[in-house]
Amino acid sequence: MGKKLNIVWLKRDLRINDHQPLFDAEKSNLDYIIIYLFEPKMMAHFDFSIRHQQFIYYSILEMNKSLFKYKRKVHIFNSDAPIFFSYLSSKFIINKVFSYKESGTLISWNRDKKVYNILKRLNIEWKEFDSQGIIRGSKNRIGWDKNWFNYAISPLIINNYSVNSFNFKLNSFKFNIKDFPYLLEYPNQFQPAGEKYAFKYLKSFIKIRHKNYNYHISQPENSRYSCARISTYLSWGNISVRQVYQCIKNALNYKFNKRIFNSFLSRLKWRSHFIQKFEVDCSYEHSCINRGYENVIYQNDNKLLESWKKGKTGFPLVDASMRCLINTGWLNFRMRAMLVSFLCHYLEQDWRRGVYYMAKLFLDYEPGIHFTQFQMQAGTTGINSIRIYNPIKQSIERDPNCIFIKKWLPELSKIKNDFVHKPWLLTELDLIDLTIPDYYRKPIVSPNLSNKNIRNQLWGLRKNSHVKEESKRLLRIHVRRK
Ligand SMILES: Cc1cc2nc3c(=O)[nH]c(=O)nc-3n(C[C@H](O)[C@H](O)[C@H](O)COP(=O)(O)OP(=O)(O)OC[C@H]3O[C@@H](n4cnc5c(N)ncnc54)[C@H](O)[C@@H]3O)c2cc1C
Repeated sequence: MGKKLNIVWLKRDLRINDHQPLFDAEKSNLDYIIIYLFEPKMMAHFDFSIRHQQFIYYSILEMNKSLFKYKRKVHIFNSDAPIFFSYLSSKFIINKVFSYKESGTLISWNRDKKVYNILKRLNIEWKEFDSQGIIRGSKNRIGWDKNWFNYAISPLIINNYSVNSFNFKLNSFKFNIKDFPYLLEYPNQFQPAGEKYAFKYLKSFIKIRHKNYNYHISQPENSRYSCARISTYLSWGNISVRQVYQCIKNALNYKFNKRIFNSFLSRLKWRSHFIQKFEVDCSYEHSCINRGYENVIYQNDNKLLESWKKGKTGFPLVDASMRCLINTGWLNFRMRAMLVSFLCHYLEQDWRRGVYYMAKLFLDYEPGIHFTQFQMQAGTTGINSIRIYNPIKQSIERDPNCIFIKKWLPELSKIKNDFVHKPWLLTELDLIDLTIPDYYRKPIVSPNLSNKNIRNQLWGLRKNSHVKEESKRLLRIHVRRK
């Protein structure tokens, strides 16, 4: 049997600062190794994409640069966690495993249950820490806000690293980048990974970019500059929620820009609020949050779905948003909401037909926010007001000069702005020297945009007794009672 050691298992916490598992491993006075597992089963799940893997890989490279001077590194392995821990325990005496709790999808819950049983059988303690103010096992929201604020203001963990003298080697499950060459092909148009960039974005937001935050937040082009753009770093744990909160609160200009910064901070709290919902019930990945909404009847036309996925619906703002997302991995809240609304309310598609597709595209994909927000926009919660976004109205209001649309739809770049919002109004005469794709002359659904069928069903179900019972149940669990 090999040496006795502790393990730090990284998941969505790819940073070296404000990190409790790494802190406790250092404190334990026993050699420890830091691991990340590229798990084939998790990677094959419908929500995981190459861009996520690339972001993870580059985040780890960044960590390794910082850890190099301590002769430490994150060891990457290619294995499902249960198999890996069983094997590792046959080669080493594992004393403890340190990690954060993960509020993930069902597949990650089941994986964690298996790991828990294996470690328990082997008498290995698994010390799992709370993260981002999320409470495991919470039955309602009593005391939740207070707990979140206590977390947000609690002192940051100062991670000091000792120099490692233990030469860890494991021959099986080795991760070799040659087997994953695509990880190295991380596109430039995605936000760069790692702790250093997380702070770079946060600092530039605090210093300059926040100025028009509240005015630009719903505009597809300006929001790219004026929003904080830290979601991806939060999602993969390059930065902690508490680090963000305290950086903002301690900023020298906070007191002069309170309205803006507080509106940002309330969103930061929503983040944990949505993840808490998913922590309580991760079946929201597969089932309607309000089970009564399973009865909505959708058209589910495959051709319409494919056009939406490709950004070829004939509705310019919808198409520009989708193509922008495909190319950059980020879109502001309003355009995300509009894409979901268009899919479910106008194309009459069940939300489940688009939810994984968008999860894969969002570089900042976070299951707890994604599934709950997606359903909120689809109108299947029964406790939120149903918002149906008209893409033509959004286009005129949010991109009046067509800057965003023309950037992502070069085929419309020569069209006069007045027509860009409604290209189907162009006559043969207007198009004499121009060609535009057929779907802009005849969009995939009528430009009159009827949402009657789905709207009537969604609102109609509100009076249904099953929906009402479900709504009461959801309010009891997820909403703070005054
Ligand atoms: C259908 C849909 C799916 C979404 N999926 C995700 C997802 O997978 N991951 C994700 O991080 N966000 C998701 N969001 C929420 C939101 O769009 C993004 O958090 C935001 O656009 C990120 O940009 P930012 O960092 O510049 O945000 P800012 O406006 O600068 O806000 C700061 C932080 O607050 C949090 N936040 C902001 N808005 C929301 C919100 N509405 N709900 C919850 N948290 C919020 C984010 O962590 C964000 O980084 C989704 C929204 C919709 C409508």
